[in-house]
Amino acid sequence: MSDVQLAVCDIQGDTHGPCLLITGGVHGDEFESMVAIRRLRRLLSSANLCGRVLLVPVVNEPAFERKHRCAEDGLDLARTFPGTSTGTITQRIAYAAARLISGADYYIDLHTGGTTMSVWPLAGYCLHQEPRVLDMQRRMARAFNLPVIWGTDPSLQGRSLSVARDANVPAIYVEYLGAATCSSPGVQAYVEGCLNVMAELAMIDRPAPSSLVEYLIEDDRPSSGHMQIQNPAPCAGYFEATVELGQVVDQGQLIGTISDPLGDQIVEVRSATRGLVLVLRTFPRVDQDEALAVIVETDRR
Ligand SMILES: [Zn+2]
Repeated sequence: MSDVQLAVCDIQGDTHGPCLLITGGVHGDEFESMVAIRRLRRLLSSANLCGRVLLVPVVNEPAFERKHRCAEDGLDLARTFPGTSTGTITQRIAYAAARLISGADYYIDLHTGGTTMSVWPLAGYCLHQEPRVLDMQRRMARAFNLPVIWGTDPSLQGRSLSVARDANVPAIYVEYLGAATCSSPGVQAYVEGCLNVMAELAMIDRPAPSSLVEYLIEDDRPSSGHMQIQNPAPCAGYFEATVELGQVVDQGQLIGTISDPLGDQIVEVRSATRGLVLVLRTFPRVDQDEALAVIVETDRR
């Protein structure tokens, strides 16, 4: 079985400094990440860089080729880390990417909601047990400068960030919309966010922008941060949301309906908590138990 060769761009600065890894396309249908990293490649020059930047625009090329979240073995790469060198294609990609992650000093993983979901722009991290790592992750998330900062359950397994956590590599992931499109503002926010983090790490000179952060939410309950298990659909059908991303909803508020083909049977879906609509399903056809939304608790209106 052949080794997986990830397409990596390695930019060495003229002066010594930390190694920052930035990955995109862990899921094959998340496009802002891919475009932003290619743009970063053109922007970064060794002359103005302290340290080293490793860029991987499309980690999961087999999934991208299929126009899908996952490669042909059906495994979700973001649940497969650290992978194995002798497994299926997704397991081997995880293995190759895990070696890059654990060898870096800092790590940023760019995602979006993919084909079926859309995510209010956020920078997330695990609530790491090691104060030094957690503090750095908070700084990186704040520097990335998206509206929401979300610290979650440190025990989640199988993620790219799980590899970083176990290697004590400060790491954040970011999300920006999705819905099977590539948002230009999302690409721009990702480029600027990565540059802002590099400035925070003293790898480049760049003035700090004014902060766009509106929410700082930390939740260490088990499975907080697992987007695919919250607000599951009570039945299959056609999902129509009645709320918008970024909106604050009350407990019990209608967030959408699921309809049968004639519209005779309409099932209402209500929010289990009061909070911010962080993730919303945008692909109308839904199976029973698929996620419809992630709503995170907040006191703000
Ligand atoms: Zn993703």
